[in-house]
Amino acid sequence: MPYDAPPAPLTDSFGRAVTYLRVSVTDRCDLRCTYCMAEKMAFLPRKDLVSLEDLARLTDAFVDLGVRKVRVTGGEPLVRRNVLDLFRHLARRLDAGQVDEVTLTTNGTQLPRYAYDLAALGVRRVNVSLDSLSTDRYQKITRIGALDKVLAGLDAAQKAGLKVKLNALASRGPFEREVDDLIRFAHGRDMDLTLIEEMPMGKTGLDRAASFLPISELRRDLATRWTLLNSDHRTGGPAEYVDVAETGGRIGFITAMTCGFCSACNRVRLSCTGKLYTCMADEGSVDLREGPSGWTGDLHARIRAAVQNKPKGHRFLENGSCSATQRHMSALGG
Ligand code: SAM
Ligand code: SF4
Repeated sequence: MPYDAPPAPLTDSFGRAVTYLRVSVTDRCDLRCTYCMAEKMAFLPRKDLVSLEDLARLTDAFVDLGVRKVRVTGGEPLVRRNVLDLFRHLARRLDAGQVDEVTLTTNGTQLPRYAYDLAALGVRRVNVSLDSLSTDRYQKITRIGALDKVLAGLDAAQKAGLKVKLNALASRGPFEREVDDLIRFAHGRDMDLTLIEEMPMGKTGLDRAASFLPISELRRDLATRWTLLNSDHRTGGPAEYVDVAETGGRIGFITAMTCGFCSACNRVRLSCTGKLYTCMADEGSVDLREGPSGWTGDLHARIRAAVQNKPKGHRFLENGSCSATQRHMSALGG
């Protein structure tokens, strides 16, 4: 093999190429969404967090191995101090053509502060989580959040030229009555809207079974009021899209529980403690800080070995019953 031949692409034992890395920079958040966290959370001690410099170095190892898309997530990524340092590093990878896209998933509250810097650092698209347009409901869902802040965040993002996609978690009850407003709001502002099925990750103090709304059911219900046209639009993530004839906008559906998008999964996740998770729904991880030579060990070989063991699919529905992970969604990001 010539000395400068590019390394073989990162593939798992089922032949899936891994080209998408989600990096969680913190498990902390300025909200406490009821489906994501318990009211009282024990967050990681700060000393357990990997520095942003080391997260950047780890990310580079994935980029060396063919990862083309990086999403920064959390917890709430924009509450991590100096988070722009990581985006600055990733901007260099974008400029050098080593990655195609750097994106962000955020609750939007810090966007008034960060939107312009993110756009200047090459971020083009952000996902913002917003489950309700009602001030009261938003406060109830997030426990401590204020809708105004997110709306200001959306304004700031759009003013800075960022393309915004809204993420809303589907649930039984008020959400079913509000979803049409969310569609009108998102599409009226040229934002796609993705509807996400709730996953049983971590205990939150609420009964997930009571709130669980299968996306298939929601989609059937939406189709009684909206003309949903199948779309081949893809963003590299797990959502399947439809065009809405009445609005000209798009709705994405993430059917994690009832449909399973695992056969086409191209993603792995890096936690803020330096652990590689090859499946969000699996407790198993590989600590990339460990190894014979610690941080300077052969990262590529360790990453390859871990990816080889990427599970075929998630185990939420194994044996016909929901098996929750201990880990909350906020510990690794969506
Ligand atoms: N704080 C940021 C935010 O809210 O967008 C990023 C992290 S948050 C964990 C990422 C996404 O996960 C959000 O869109 C949120 O709605 C989703 N999420 C949280 N808990 C979930 C659960 N149990 N099932 C499905 N999605 C969940
Ligand atoms: Fe925070 Fe995002 Fe979880 Fe809500 S979904 S508590 S904003 S990490």
